[in-house]
Amino acid sequence: MNKFFRTSTFFNILIPLLLLTGCNASSISTKASSDGQNISMAELESIINVPGPIKFEKHVAANWSINLSGLLNLEHPLAVKAGLQEKDEPIQLYVYSLSHPDRGTYLVDSGISERFNSPDENPDLSFLVKMAMKTDKIQVIKTTQQLAKQSAGGVSGVFLTHIHMDHILGLTDLPKSTPVYTGPGEGSLSSAEHMFTQGTTDRLLANVQQLREWQFDQNGIVDIFGDKSVFAIHSPGHSPGSTAYLVRSTEGPQLLIGDATHTRWGWEHGVEPGTFSADPEKSVESLQRLIQLSESFPEITVHPGHQSL
Ligand SMILES: [Zn+2]
Repeated sequence: MNKFFRTSTFFNILIPLLLLTGCNASSISTKASSDGQNISMAELESIINVPGPIKFEKHVAANWSINLSGLLNLEHPLAVKAGLQEKDEPIQLYVYSLSHPDRGTYLVDSGISERFNSPDENPDLSFLVKMAMKTDKIQVIKTTQQLAKQSAGGVSGVFLTHIHMDHILGLTDLPKSTPVYTGPGEGSLSSAEHMFTQGTTDRLLANVQQLREWQFDQNGIVDIFGDKSVFAIHSPGHSPGSTAYLVRSTEGPQLLIGDATHTRWGWEHGVEPGTFSADPEKSVESLQRLIQLSESFPEITVHPGHQSL
């Protein structure tokens, strides 16, 4: 680590100063998505186990590692009881392709761009972001450009679980015309950490014309294509617009929970994320709602944010 950033000046003066003011996650413009229809949980549940039309594939975009205290609430009684402590935790970046028989291929989250083959030289990332996110530990497995080339007809759109940086690293590999969807309030979330990250987030979103926000009613579920094949499920907490996706695939129902919890242990023990979450209480509620859904339908294959079950 650079000597300057180990000094007390940086941690004792500069950081608290920046904490006095907030900054939006991104300066990108947003608009209400006109796609999809609101439905109730009962309607969703009535069709979950009916075989669906979506060809589903999960891809590992990259291997990485990150602080466990961000990924998991280490103060949760179960984590304390298990003796879990801060460490560098191995994680993976996932991107999912959903091929709809009529609507084309959509991605859930964006994978990783060709530019990350040399993360140190990637002009999209600021020096501070490279350091804070330990981008030197990213090992690219499959880029979004490779993925897009494999899909006949390219990528019709991207459904983001949220706009934290690790979920938007592949967007620069896609054409500007690609529609990108997210939950409400993602771009306008204001917090001190965004002082450091807004420029980088904006550069990673440079190929996105406007973020299209799902319009959730009180049930928090949108039937995206209007044919009950793919559903967006509002799961706020980790970030205000965090969204899980339920996919009725040819191989059964798939639940992509985003970062409702990042790790295998977090899902299996019902423990929410740690310091990376904007609203820990809502994080707990959203995770419990998703756990309840998966317990009611054991046929569902669950995909936590950054580790597989
Ligand atoms: Zn993440």
